[in-house]
Amino acid sequence: MLLRNRLLTLQITSFLSLPLSPPIKTRPSTLSFQTLLSNPTHPSQNPNPKRHVLAPKAKANSTILDKDVLFMSPGVDPAEEVTENMVLPGSNIVLGPYAGDAKIKEVEFVKSSARAKDCPKHDRPEFAILGRSNVGKSSLINSLVRKKDVALTSKKPGKTKLINHFLVNKSWYFVDLPGYGFAKAPDAARMDWSAFTKGFFLSRDTLVTVLLLVDASVPPQKIDLDCANWLGRNNIPMTFVFTKCDKMRAGKGKRADENLRDFQQFIKDNYRVPPPWIMTSSVTGLGRDELLLHMSQLRNYWDQ
Ligand code: GDP
Repeated sequence: MLLRNRLLTLQITSFLSLPLSPPIKTRPSTLSFQTLLSNPTHPSQNPNPKRHVLAPKAKANSTILDKDVLFMSPGVDPAEEVTENMVLPGSNIVLGPYAGDAKIKEVEFVKSSARAKDCPKHDRPEFAILGRSNVGKSSLINSLVRKKDVALTSKKPGKTKLINHFLVNKSWYFVDLPGYGFAKAPDAARMDWSAFTKGFFLSRDTLVTVLLLVDASVPPQKIDLDCANWLGRNNIPMTFVFTKCDKMRAGKGKRADENLRDFQQFIKDNYRVPPPWIMTSSVTGLGRDELLLHMSQLRNYWDQ
């Protein structure tokens, strides 16, 4: 059956009607960013321990976490107690039994499409990657696929407003979508983007999740919140991917960890069950393997 329907029961039922609903009060999070950053992956659930150098032995008396702030991945028993070592480091994602085969072995550019209906036919799982321009999208794609020029296609003149499909391991698609929020773009240009990209979201039954990139080095931006709200209202599964998380040192304005906390508050206030989120840095490689593992569990669940 279509992917969207399957994953909807996992993720989308958790969305509240946004943004008008009054905030839902949840218990305080027991997850601190420091805890998550140093949090090991559960070795017994790690399908490929060699890839996860952060995964020491499970602590015998690991802290039990508040499920109100966690994303329970497919196959995780909702009744099970979740301890720190079951959560992917730097995220709220509980590792489940479908994780595996996360490695990217080959990537092939397939096509650029000007309209949703020109995209490759709906025959493989897709992960769409979306965010404000300058959020670090190209850097993240390059870091994920470990190639310097894969994402550059979308930066060539004339391709910036296209939907770009990349086939990974001959089995699933990475879909690079146009960035949004050009400061100087006239309203008409924004509307054009909206119709174009929204058309893609609303027509793809094979869309596993949107990776919504959010720059952690700046305070939460209205346009990102608007985008998240739109996806939520339209039942499009999403994963918040925080970029530039290496910028933790005090500088001008708020630090990345404070910005993240503010964004977390938005998630807590607006979602009955939180969507998955994960911290990344293309500079240090933070979150790279964890994001790929998260994607693998959603994909394998669909593929079964
Ligand atoms: P795009 O417009 O979303 O594709 O963004 P780019 O990938 O081109 O990145 C925009 C700017 O942010 C560039 O100057 C990058 O070097 C920088 N950048 C991207 N990712 C990171 C990151 O993880 N950490 C830091 N410190 N800078 C980053």
